[in-house]
Amino acid sequence: MIHFLDVTKDYDNQTALRNVTFSVEKGEMAFITGPSGSGKTTALKLIYLAEKPDEGTITVAGWETDQLRESAVPFLRRNIGVVFQDFRLLARKNVFENVAMALRIRGVGVLADEPTGNLDSDTAEGVMRIFRNVNTKGTTILIATHNRELYRNSGRRVFRLDAGNLVGEETR
Ligand code: ADP
Repeated sequence: MIHFLDVTKDYDNQTALRNVTFSVEKGEMAFITGPSGSGKTTALKLIYLAEKPDEGTITVAGWETDQLRESAVPFLRRNIGVVFQDFRLLARKNVFENVAMALRIRGVGVLADEPTGNLDSDTAEGVMRIFRNVNTKGTTILIATHNRELYRNSGRRVFRLDAGNLVGEETR
């Protein structure tokens, strides 16, 4: 569903991702984690075409993103289930609104915010329950988070970034 092959992304003189290769399968729910500044947001932005890679190839839902015409971008965005969780955003709304919004707004600039703040664990669990539910119906979901509580004991794959490098992939 989502394939990164040797992807490098630089902002000015800052390398946000360096030779990153990973895949998320169709219908999978997976996580990208890593400390602030490790490249999580950039990875998501590349997937929904808010940014373009400097090197490497990204394929989403069978489309190689750098081959897509501008006019095809909205169609791609409607067909991918990438979710970015911004806890600061989430804290202001109820769980349902948040998840509905997260599934709707992929690609919008709010999503560039640093992931900060914390939900209480009950609310976080409520969010995860809804994600799992959506995933059960077949939507591929990729969640960027630095909160290990979200993926602990999930049985899901977790891709770990550090300073733009993919330093690990494990099933938690
Ligand atoms: P994370 O989501 O893990 O916090 P980001 O993908 O936001 O990481 O950032 C990765 C690196 O790229 C950081 O060093 C960050 O400062 C830098 N970066 C991100 N966006 C930009 C930008 N628009 N311009 C310049 N540097 C950026």
